[in-house]
Amino acid sequence: MKIVNAYLKIIATRISQYPDDELPEFLLVGRSNVGKSSFINTILNKRGLARTSSTPGKTQTLNFYLENREELKRVFMIVDFRIKPTEDDILMYQFLKYYDIPVTIIAGKADKVGGSKREHNLTVIRKAIDLAQGDDIIEFSSVSKKGRDEVLNKIESLVVETI
Ligand code: GDP
Repeated sequence: MKIVNAYLKIIATRISQYPDDELPEFLLVGRSNVGKSSFINTILNKRGLARTSSTPGKTQTLNFYLENREELKRVFMIVDFRIKPTEDDILMYQFLKYYDIPVTIIAGKADKVGGSKREHNLTVIRKAIDLAQGDDIIEFSSVSKKGRDEVLNKIESLVVETI
């Protein structure tokens, strides 16, 4: 998949602001500082597109989004590959599964995890987050670009499925 254009359409905090074009949608979640902005910029190959926003009200709108968004094809949930998933990570995953939404765990900052630790850390993630059938893990780094193609292929296949 080749991205030819990427831009920020809206920072929506109200339902009325959500896109109504019925195009496939993907959601990115993860704790503060885990690498969400970097992930977006790496995937879109556009430095500075994503920035953290302190707009209040995001959490309130999330419930609606998850319940009523047929366009939502998959959630990418970033965790820090260097450490054991936190209570918040686990809660977030359970929250997503409550709504039956397919999830790809992004094991982020993978450039900081040396070869010998990879398998061990993957096991730690799998132990903490009991992955539902169909959910998966992609090792990712915004520094080395590891996992970028894998994420793009995943998005592409889900977009193609809906056409
Ligand atoms: P956000 O708060 O989730 O949007 O996180 P940011 O994208 O702003 O990243 C938080 C910090 O982690 C910044 O200092 C980034 O440079 C750093 N960071 C993000 N992704 C990576 C990565 O893949 N590898 C490394 N080593 N650092 C990263």
